[in-house]
Amino acid sequence: MTALNSIRPPNFIRTIIEEDLKSNKYGGRVHTRFPPEPNGYLHIGHAKSICLNFGLAQDYRGLCNLRFDDTNPSKEEVEYVESIREDVRWLGFDWDDREYYASDYFEQLYEYAIKLIKAGKAYVDDLSADEIRAYRGTLTEPGKESPYRDRTVEENLDLFYRMGNGEFEDGSRVLRAKIDMASPNLNMRDPVMYRILHAEHHRTGNKWCIYPTYDFTHGQSDSIEGITHSICTLEFEDHRPLYDWFIEELGIYHCQQIEFARLNLSFTVMSKRMLLDLVEGGYVTGWDDPRMPTISGLRRRGYTPESIRDFCERIGVAKRDSTVDIALLEHCVREDLNKRAPRVMAVLRPLRVVIENYPENEVEELDALNNPEDPSMGTRKVPFSRALYVEREDFCEEPPKRFYRLAPGREVRLRYAYFIKCVDVIKDEKTGEVVELRCTYDPETRGGDSPDGRKVRATLHWVSAAHSIKAEVRLYDHLFTKTSPADEKQDVDFKAYLNPNSLGTLTSCRAEPSLADATPRSHYQFERLGYFCVDAVDSSDNTLVFNRTVTLRDTWARILKAEQATTEIPKAPEKTIIPALQVSGDPLTFKGAEHEPLGEGITIEDFSKIDLRVGIIREAYPVEGSKKLIRLMVDIGEGRVRQIFAGIRSAYPEPEKLIEKKVIVVANLKPRQMKFGISEGMVLSGGDSKRLSITTFDGDPLPGDKVS
Ligand code: ATP
Ligand code: MG
Repeated sequence: MTALNSIRPPNFIRTIIEEDLKSNKYGGRVHTRFPPEPNGYLHIGHAKSICLNFGLAQDYRGLCNLRFDDTNPSKEEVEYVESIREDVRWLGFDWDDREYYASDYFEQLYEYAIKLIKAGKAYVDDLSADEIRAYRGTLTEPGKESPYRDRTVEENLDLFYRMGNGEFEDGSRVLRAKIDMASPNLNMRDPVMYRILHAEHHRTGNKWCIYPTYDFTHGQSDSIEGITHSICTLEFEDHRPLYDWFIEELGIYHCQQIEFARLNLSFTVMSKRMLLDLVEGGYVTGWDDPRMPTISGLRRRGYTPESIRDFCERIGVAKRDSTVDIALLEHCVREDLNKRAPRVMAVLRPLRVVIENYPENEVEELDALNNPEDPSMGTRKVPFSRALYVEREDFCEEPPKRFYRLAPGREVRLRYAYFIKCVDVIKDEKTGEVVELRCTYDPETRGGDSPDGRKVRATLHWVSAAHSIKAEVRLYDHLFTKTSPADEKQDVDFKAYLNPNSLGTLTSCRAEPSLADATPRSHYQFERLGYFCVDAVDSSDNTLVFNRTVTLRDTWARILKAEQATTEIPKAPEKTIIPALQVSGDPLTFKGAEHEPLGEGITIEDFSKIDLRVGIIREAYPVEGSKKLIRLMVDIGEGRVRQIFAGIRSAYPEPEKLIEKKVIVVANLKPRQMKFGISEGMVLSGGDSKRLSITTFDGDPLPGDKVS
């Protein structure tokens, strides 16, 4: 059986699964699990794991369990369990009746422990936690055996029973596996299996006062549930020998642990401990604060499940840790909302405009498109009258060069309405602040065009003053000022890098009247401003509150454009068009209006950021539907192959001739979604379109070797 959903790009986990299916290793079954510890809300990193585990089950017609890893009694809370269920479901996944708890296995794990004691493979140790640590040794020195290591089976059984019966204090004894204190792998130096903890558990109450450790629980839980592929993050790679050891010594069903790199995202933190710190310290309003990278925060902010799934797909899975640019996540939600969010007009910082030649009590209903990308979304009416609001930023009394919006004497277009011209500026006598613009309109330009072909250079959004409704709008920026706040500096607390401007609240915004019926969580594009959604917590019938999900400015698209510019054969530079609608602060642009100059001189430091590696082309195929592209599967020593699309077909009409060639790969390019799949890097080539050839080596370097 092959992947049912062949649209998904290959990755090393899929390769393993497909090989196992071919060899019938698990009788053709694929059974995964998502195992959260209920000690906090889920974050976008967990979403990656959820999409991966549930996604694999879907694609290979398998199953995925939801398993709460609740071995640690003091931290778990029912609230967390409920939030996790809600988040997984909201992301679009279902575990049917397969909701399990590691605590359901306490009885079985206890039996397993006794089995190991009886086999002489586990012993009760009286050393304190500090002593155990000291005896453990280091990476360079072997550990020391505990003086209690050679207790008899009878003595161990007796002590373990008594541990379970509550005869001993917390921390006074532990049960350890008897493996090898000299093992080069610290995890194999007699790891702790059980500790004494007189604490109430959210499911088992006070039944137990000894609790199994993660290491003694996880693999056995997988085994009990008949999991085939136990997918976890890289930090557990060194635990795999222990995972296998327990299962082999117990002689129980063996599933396979596979590790992948965890997701890190720029400008945020991805650890429940740190997120809890933010919640408890009041730095954010809660786990669902729209600035949090939690699934509940993203949901409240206006992210859709589709956009998060798309993001998880695009980042793919790899064996090496890296940080994904938050701009990619923003790009995904922008793309999704572009399709589905109706366009409306709202003014965030209103400036009153009076149209002097427009009749006093007249109101016109103008037709506006709900989504220019999707005509099936229809049109709506927006009222136009003598007094309007426009965006304060769209007026400048002394406009700098290239400011094309309103200014004294300047004519602009009001979206779906008329051309208006500013004829007077009214200021507060005391402060000098502009409080109102007096304008005239041209009745001939109704709908936005002038019959005489006269051009204006800007189109502004607006609302009718009397008809508009009041709204509060919350603008969000990155939660942190540094790309990796958690590991910026060793002795500086990550909270030092909180962005003081991550939340801006505007309370006197005005929105077009159609928004009066907006329901919680509904999405809109405020024209020229961004995507917004109705806040599900604070919005009420009296106060409409909107969260800005994301601006329209797509920095990711720009990153891609810059990358593309380096992959393509340079063309003669196009004339740079400076955006017509842009000043500092929040950019006010219509989509597509931006073209910015690319690139400037780089330094050696800039260059050293590019990770060039030796790669071997393992497979090469023509790409159906593309005249230019070849799909290369390149090995750069990561234990898997990368898919890279290269625009070199003209030079290599028979792509298979490229197989086994040693090439230079730009290894740290962010994966790029192309029409035909994800491209995970770039292969260097030289020459112009007539004599294009791929850069190879004449020596014999190994895949993964650094190129400098
Ligand atoms: P944290 O470090 O945030 O507390 P954790 O790994 O302790 O996370 P768990 O509840 O144990 O949190 O995680 C459940 C599952 O999600 C595990 O399989 C874990 O490997 C995976 N996971 C956690 N964080 C990430 C991440 N950043 N990227 C991908 N998967 C993750
Ligand atoms: Mg964990």
